[in-house]
Amino acid sequence: MPLTVELIPCLTDNYAYLLYEQGTGLCAVVDPSEPEPVRRALAARGLRLTHILNTHHHFDHTGGNVPLKEEFGAAVAGPEKDGARIPALDIGVDESTPWQFGPYTATILEIPAHTRAHIAFVFDEERIAFTGDTLFAMGCGRLFEGTPAMMWASLSKLMRLPDDTRIYCGHEYTLNNGRFALTLEPGNEALQSRMREVEACRARSQPTIPSTMSLEKATNPFLRTDSAEIRKTLGMEDSDDVAVFAEIRRRKDDF
Ligand SMILES: [Zn+2]
Repeated sequence: MPLTVELIPCLTDNYAYLLYEQGTGLCAVVDPSEPEPVRRALAARGLRLTHILNTHHHFDHTGGNVPLKEEFGAAVAGPEKDGARIPALDIGVDESTPWQFGPYTATILEIPAHTRAHIAFVFDEERIAFTGDTLFAMGCGRLFEGTPAMMWASLSKLMRLPDDTRIYCGHEYTLNNGRFALTLEPGNEALQSRMREVEACRARSQPTIPSTMSLEKATNPFLRTDSAEIRKTLGMEDSDDVAVFAEIRRRKDDF
């Protein structure tokens, strides 16, 4: 049985995700910002929630935990190291132990910096990764609780995932991220062609998610500190990766 992933738009630009197995009742929601859109998505598919997964504690990723847990009795799984900040946490997970979702195994990657205990749920066999607010389509999260070196290490960990891994992130920021990317690497043809697709998609109000790891490696400036064009734009031809990453992040904060 394949695992199905479906997007649930929440708030203004958040995505929660339904993750379920057809016909068996196994059904999780990833990062529910708010309960109502999740309830509607479940009702439309005749599903009941068994699990709630959180990548990090921010309210726009956990706001639905308590009401959805009360309604469905779903178990909440999230970063053990942030147990005190994840509402109604039942199952604390960390990188030392894979987490079992019915017959499916999720590797937990600890990817701190946006928050100090941010994690990704990675279903290796199914090639599905939920990256929360660490890796976005053509972007990365702000460094609220970590250093550039920490975020670079976190992104490097994600870059070791297979190229065909589908990336499901926490927000629809892709268009703005791509516009920023073009300021650093206007000659990147993969980036230009992706932006044409993203612009067409957003003009129809369609989501740009999921992405893939190969597409991110080709177009996401935060993963491309080795790009000669980016380094030239920044005047940082001889700097190390962390310094280049830090400068890209600094510029994005002001973009
Ligand atoms: Zn966040």
